[in-house]
Amino acid sequence: MSQRLSGIPISPGIAIGPAWWLQTPTVATRHSDVPLNPETERARLEAAREQAKRELAAILADQQHALPPESLAILEAQQLMLDDPDLLQHVTAAIDAGQSASDAWRNATDAIAAQLSALPDPYFQARAADVRDIQQRVLRCLGGVAEEAVYPTTPHVLLADDLVPSQTVTLPLDRILGIALVGGGLTSHAAILARARGLPAVAGLGRALHTIAPETLVILDGDRGEVIVNPDEATLVEAQARQAAWHAAQKAAAATAAEPGQLADGTRIEIAANIGSAADARAAVQAGAEGVGLLRTEFLYLDRVTPPSTEEQFAIYQEIFTLLEGRPVVVRTFDIGGDKPAPYLSLPPEANPFLGVRAIRLARQQPALLDTQLDALLRTGYPALRIMFPMVATIAEIHWLRERVDAAIARLTSQGLTPPPGLQIGMMVEIPAAALLAEHFAAVVDFFSIGTNDLAQYTLAADRTNPAVAALADALHPAVLRLIQHVVSAAHPAGRWVGVCGELAGDPVAAPILVGLGIDELSMAPAAIPAVKAVLRQWTRDAAEHLAQEALRQESAEAVRQLVQAMMPHR
Ligand code: PEP
Ligand code: MG
Repeated sequence: MSQRLSGIPISPGIAIGPAWWLQTPTVATRHSDVPLNPETERARLEAAREQAKRELAAILADQQHALPPESLAILEAQQLMLDDPDLLQHVTAAIDAGQSASDAWRNATDAIAAQLSALPDPYFQARAADVRDIQQRVLRCLGGVAEEAVYPTTPHVLLADDLVPSQTVTLPLDRILGIALVGGGLTSHAAILARARGLPAVAGLGRALHTIAPETLVILDGDRGEVIVNPDEATLVEAQARQAAWHAAQKAAAATAAEPGQLADGTRIEIAANIGSAADARAAVQAGAEGVGLLRTEFLYLDRVTPPSTEEQFAIYQEIFTLLEGRPVVVRTFDIGGDKPAPYLSLPPEANPFLGVRAIRLARQQPALLDTQLDALLRTGYPALRIMFPMVATIAEIHWLRERVDAAIARLTSQGLTPPPGLQIGMMVEIPAAALLAEHFAAVVDFFSIGTNDLAQYTLAADRTNPAVAALADALHPAVLRLIQHVVSAAHPAGRWVGVCGELAGDPVAAPILVGLGIDELSMAPAAIPAVKAVLRQWTRDAAEHLAQEALRQESAEAVRQLVQAMMPHR
């Protein structure tokens, strides 16, 4: 009998094939009743940690070009965890109290995974699976016996509770058609992997997924977030037709990804990438990015015990800028604080971190942090450097920030160095107040980039990380579109360009509306670039403008989506 399960769409496309259940191998360790010698146990742990580090280093070297940058970053984070002083202190204390190396390691890592699972942010919840993964690796290195993983020899749709990083490395991805998960979410490792590989995926299907027996025929619909079990003939034929159309569109988009972003009438639209590491920069260039519209720099500040020095930052910026070979790059100053705490900042906990001391608000409290970052950036002398400030709400803030930049330029020139020749200073528009007063800001910045993720959450008063209300924070809501229109109408007469760097920019449904509103640059995850370029080639400026005007008149985000479907040009 046919059955339909609903979940969260995490990667688009359609997969049709037999189901195959991924068993997560766990490592069994024996418990010893004989009193243990702490010194021997400490030495065993040390040896196991070293072996685990060697294994991870070998995987990283081997998979450098095969895995998406986010997967590599997770494996790198696992490497760091093996040296985490806090964790090691806990484990050695337990060993000294009489526990075996295996028990001490298992208990301490269980505690971290449990803490992460309990956090409200789904990003951190997803990291619990990463911790359990490194836990299992070390246990195996300590002599535990791992179950043999069994993989399919023919193409299958993968069903799993969740995916952990080490499985990513061993999974035969060429034989996997799509991924269906009991748990997981948009930022889970499986989601990141699926999107980077272009594999259709659905998460959050719940325990009902367990009712699917191996080899049962399933349709996995990554657009609608559904899994259809044992489909009837008509459903199967319809899914096959949609799958064929999807494959054809993907092929066409990939073939033309390197061409410049433009509309059907030749109007140029700059298509840029959002990146957060050197590996991302590589992926961006490969995917056809014409620049970087958002370099998130938080990765430099999190997971460490001291803030990054000028030299350390300078080296990383240089590495990234070299890979970008002269393309324009918008670097956003740190957006830490609030829900992304850094232990060395000793920030008091806040009841509403998204409304708290975040980004430039933290910079104003601790200016040395910002000065160090500005010094490192300016020192690169990168010709097409643009510096952008997040979370700007008031004109006074932007005046203060410009003074910090002027002072940093003065420090640089006093050392006989010259600032980047094409330097531009801009701001993110992600707070409604900034959007509404854009004409005043246009007098003091060179450009705007609209952060629709935050702009939507602040406009609709819906926490983007709270699954219970996150759907309300839909950036296609006409209220958000009207704010975007207002920014463009204030920026263009003043000669300022406007980009969008929130997730909306990489949504093929939204891209023609944004362009129709007059947006000059769209910045998105590298993997989204080919599809957005392909969709924009179907629209003329006139048609996109007409669509945008209609969209502004709608009453809901759903109505806007339907409108795009209805007005889509047929070519
Ligand atoms: C945004 O808010 O849209 C944005 C791009 O910034 P972040 O997602 O890093 O908050
Ligand atoms: Mg933001």
